[in-house]
Amino acid sequence: MVNQDKVLEIMVKIGEKIEEDKLFLTELDNVIGDGDHGINMARGFGDFISKVPDLQGKDIGAILKAAGMSLTMKVGGASGPLYGTAYLQAGKTAGDKTEIGIEDFIQILEAAIEGVKMRGKAVTGEKTMLDAMVPALDAIKEEYDASKDAKKALEAGLAAAKEGVEYTKTIIATKGRASYLGERSIGHQDPGATSFTEMLQVICENV
Ligand code: ADP
Ligand code: MG
Repeated sequence: MVNQDKVLEIMVKIGEKIEEDKLFLTELDNVIGDGDHGINMARGFGDFISKVPDLQGKDIGAILKAAGMSLTMKVGGASGPLYGTAYLQAGKTAGDKTEIGIEDFIQILEAAIEGVKMRGKAVTGEKTMLDAMVPALDAIKEEYDASKDAKKALEAGLAAAKEGVEYTKTIIATKGRASYLGERSIGHQDPGATSFTEMLQVICENV
């Protein structure tokens, strides 16, 4: 089980990781978008990190919703409202829990994905963050059903997210700015799928 303090710690580490990889994510977006993904996400998480003193001792729903608010308010572009909705829905699902296990995490990730799908009107195979999120969720569920081992399940999820990023290199973008490139988007990995994979990696390394 992971308690509220640990969730807050992990969220801060996600913010630090995004900040660290800001230029890499922006470089990816330079190739198929407008080169702002890393900068966008780092701005959003920077705002979240500034709220951390007020979030000490708050329930997990409040922590995730605060991240959702920061991303919605401070991040321009597509990814702000999309990740913002993801974290807001995740927070709604976590509610007033102060401790979560893998089964809760599965529900939280499911809600986040539904939020992204609803907001972005996208499905898998369109070269978006969903191409990392959906396979990750499926793999986590499958591995957890089989082994009842939470750590193994998260690792399977991370491996599937990484495969999802590789898969985005092979397909044409049909949503977001990258869709303007049509076939020229082939060969390049999706920035949003990459940033999601980084988030999951931090989660994996810290539970
Ligand atoms: P913008 O494209 O507005 O510049 P960002 O560069 O911050 O915004 O984010 C781009 C990322 O957003 C893409 O790599 C992709 O993963 C994601 N994205 C764009 N449109 C959608 C959508 N409709 N559904 C899901 N994800 C999307
Ligand atoms: Mg962009």
